[in-house]
Amino acid sequence: MNKDVVVLNCGSSSVKFAIIDAVTGKAGLSGLAESLGNADASLTYKLNGEKTSFSLTDNAGHTEALNAISKIIEDTGVKPIAVGHRVVHGGEKFKEAALVNNEVLTAVEDYASMAPLHNLANLKGIVTAQKAYPNLPHVCVFDTSFFQSMPQKAYIYALPMRLYKEHGIRRYGFHGTSHKFILDSAAKLLDKPVEETSIISAHLGNGCSVTAIEKGKAVDTSLGFTPLEGLVMGTRCGDMDPSLPGTLQKKLGKTADEINDLLNKQSGLLGISELSNDCRTLEEEAEKGHEGALLAIEIFCYRLAKYIASYLIATPSLDAIVFTGGIGENSSLIRETTMNYFAHLGVTLDEQKNLDARFGKGGEITSSSSSKTVFVVPTNEEWVIAAEAATFA
Ligand code: AMP
Repeated sequence: MNKDVVVLNCGSSSVKFAIIDAVTGKAGLSGLAESLGNADASLTYKLNGEKTSFSLTDNAGHTEALNAISKIIEDTGVKPIAVGHRVVHGGEKFKEAALVNNEVLTAVEDYASMAPLHNLANLKGIVTAQKAYPNLPHVCVFDTSFFQSMPQKAYIYALPMRLYKEHGIRRYGFHGTSHKFILDSAAKLLDKPVEETSIISAHLGNGCSVTAIEKGKAVDTSLGFTPLEGLVMGTRCGDMDPSLPGTLQKKLGKTADEINDLLNKQSGLLGISELSNDCRTLEEEAEKGHEGALLAIEIFCYRLAKYIASYLIATPSLDAIVFTGGIGENSSLIRETTMNYFAHLGVTLDEQKNLDARFGKGGEITSSSSSKTVFVVPTNEEWVIAAEAATFA
């Protein structure tokens, strides 16, 4: 039976799209419309391995992009059974995926106060795609749902409780679809039921997060109220002294928005290295002795190791530590440098397995004598979205 699902991820100036087989996770078609709203708006897609690019009309927006996308899908002859929408913020309301209706749309709009750029773009994508596919079920799959199992001790900040009660200020967590995929994959690798599987999942891409999962449930995660807390990321700072934004505002004479921009877009690997947010570039330059690149990699791995170490106490049944995301899947250097901090706890990597696991291969990378198992698992967030959406078809 046909299980093809259209998966859409609408950003403020882009639409990422794919047709995913909800059973196999294979993408027959995938593409990206970008620079929407600008003169150089364009669309690129890959169909059966063949790449095509074209310019969209000047200042084309989400509507033009989605019209072009539905035409490309129509031309493939595929008859999708559902549309899965990635939605960043589902607040405390959405503990799982939801079929789009007026109540769901209102809630997505309400939560835009906590993720303004993302949720409003997601909403635009849903409303436009509903017009392109009026007869298909549209399903919201939220980045935050997977973390709704966290206990209060993990999600309440040590702030006046009224801020949580009246304004919803708490840790929400993000990258939920990826961590869910990693949990399911680890359970298969370990040959255990998901609800008995315990892992520490490290999603390391441009955005980075670690999640502690005890017996199939998220019990803690490093991203917080927004996707700025926790690890060092490509351009985001992660943890720092919470008095710094106020201090910097005064010292640099900047507005709160400008400081927010500095912490989100000019910090992290880019800020430390003064070179790049791209881990590949940093590794190449570190090899040649670039001091900024060396320091950025060192701080990235040390912060990551500290988080993994702290989550050892949140996962007493730990089965495995898992790396995923562009960096987690491909950088043997980051994995080795991070896991070396655990040598005194008996965790040892197998050098060859660590190299072999790169570039989409994955697998176990620990030596046979290691006290803990470490896996590399290529993530597939689109598959999770497609599989969830298909349940409503
Ligand atoms: P993502 O957001 O998951 O696409 O991940 C993007 C990050 O993965 C960027 O920092 C890339 O530099 C990094 N990355 C991709 N391939 C490699 C590689 N072969 N070695 C190191 N980092 C990589």
